[in-house]
Amino acid sequence: MERIKLLKVHYLPKELEEGFLYVSNEFGVAGHLCPCGCKNKIITPIDPIEWAFKEVNDKPTLYPSIGNWQLPCKSHYWITNGVIEWSSQWSEKQIIEGRQAEEEKRKLYYGNLKNKYKKQSLLKRFINFVLRK
Ligand SMILES: [Zn+2]
Repeated sequence: MERIKLLKVHYLPKELEEGFLYVSNEFGVAGHLCPCGCKNKIITPIDPIEWAFKEVNDKPTLYPSIGNWQLPCKSHYWITNGVIEWSSQWSEKQIIEGRQAEEEKRKLYYGNLKNKYKKQSLLKRFINFVLRK
């Protein structure tokens, strides 16, 4: 079983060490080296549309899985409770479908934000209108 330890940092260091998940809550980002041994740096933003980060007893969990399709190794794994769980490699079709699902999620999220903003500004306009009288 491969383990990955949690290391909380303010800034992600330039050089990452294998076997650690560096997490900056301040900047909403995590980084680690690809656990296959290829030493590529994997940066995972932590926000509502990218990854969710959770820690239990200093053991990190990232959700959803990490798929390094852009790397030659194409590693795909989960980080769950400080353990690397290897997942099957995705086919081209699965990668494309995964990207489409992400795109949908993004659109939905920004769409909701826009609506919220619109509502707020309407309310503000109304308040300004009332106060002016
Ligand atoms: Zn790799």
